[in-house]
Amino acid sequence: MDYQHLIEEVYQEVRSKDPRGKVANYIPELESVDGEKFGIALVDLEGNVFGAGDYQEPFSIQSISKVHTLTMVAHVFHEKLWSKVNVEPSGNPFNSIAQLEFEKGIPRNPFINAGALVITDALTSKFENPIEKITRFINDVSGKECVKINQDVMDSELDHSERNTALAYFLKAYKNFDNKVEDVINTYVSHCSIELCCVDLARSISFLANDGYSIYAKREIVTESVARRINALMLTCGFYDESGEFAFRVGLPGKSGVGGGVAAVMPHKFSIAVWSPELNEKGNSVKSILALELLTDKLKFSLF
Ligand code: GLN
Repeated sequence: MDYQHLIEEVYQEVRSKDPRGKVANYIPELESVDGEKFGIALVDLEGNVFGAGDYQEPFSIQSISKVHTLTMVAHVFHEKLWSKVNVEPSGNPFNSIAQLEFEKGIPRNPFINAGALVITDALTSKFENPIEKITRFINDVSGKECVKINQDVMDSELDHSERNTALAYFLKAYKNFDNKVEDVINTYVSHCSIELCCVDLARSISFLANDGYSIYAKREIVTESVARRINALMLTCGFYDESGEFAFRVGLPGKSGVGGGVAAVMPHKFSIAVWSPELNEKGNSVKSILALELLTDKLKFSLF
């Protein structure tokens, strides 16, 4: 399969269709990013890299970091985790407060903000310096010292973290949150402010395309069964209330972030990361989703 040719074709087609959205502005610092940026990187299971456009430029991975934190926790807490967070699609925006009350403090899944806060709370209980561990984990699975936390993005989100703070207090009221709210929010915002380029992001989730084994760290990161479960969650919940649409159009386990990134895996073949900052009203990147839709159409395969 000539992945390089394929990616260039997809890149050109998306550029010529040029669907538009809006760069996220509820975290003001994210708005300073150039909406025209667009990059794609595909990494196969031999470590070959295929890229087009701005694929080597770091961007804010935001909620895609929830895949990394979930992996760390799933590995450490095993089945215990699933009593604290559910595994159902939410059908609601990623920061819904109403849903958490309705669900009596057990978040619908680990990818909406409430669920990710439970995960980061678990990491805070486990590690003295959780953000250092998260950084080390991502560097390890990517086989590279690639993680950089963007301090401006972090400060900007911290200044506007009322909703996440409210979710954390809500979780605490339901006894599903053990640590100090401020500490967990700090760690959560730090891991959301991690910057990676498309290549390093694709490398960092490559183990999910490879039954849990990282070709970069040269070890099993999670068992095959845990890898399968994380992929199932990405497929059903990775795009919040647009997860069905992503499965319908693309058909791969994937995760989006409000920085405009989307990371996805084709099990036993490759991992891929796409970045384009302009988002649709659900907070998912317009061009990144179209790129992946064209890619699976041209490949003539997805999970299905
Ligand atoms: N840091 C962002 C937030 O908590 C992440 C949201 C996202 O990428 N969907 O709002």
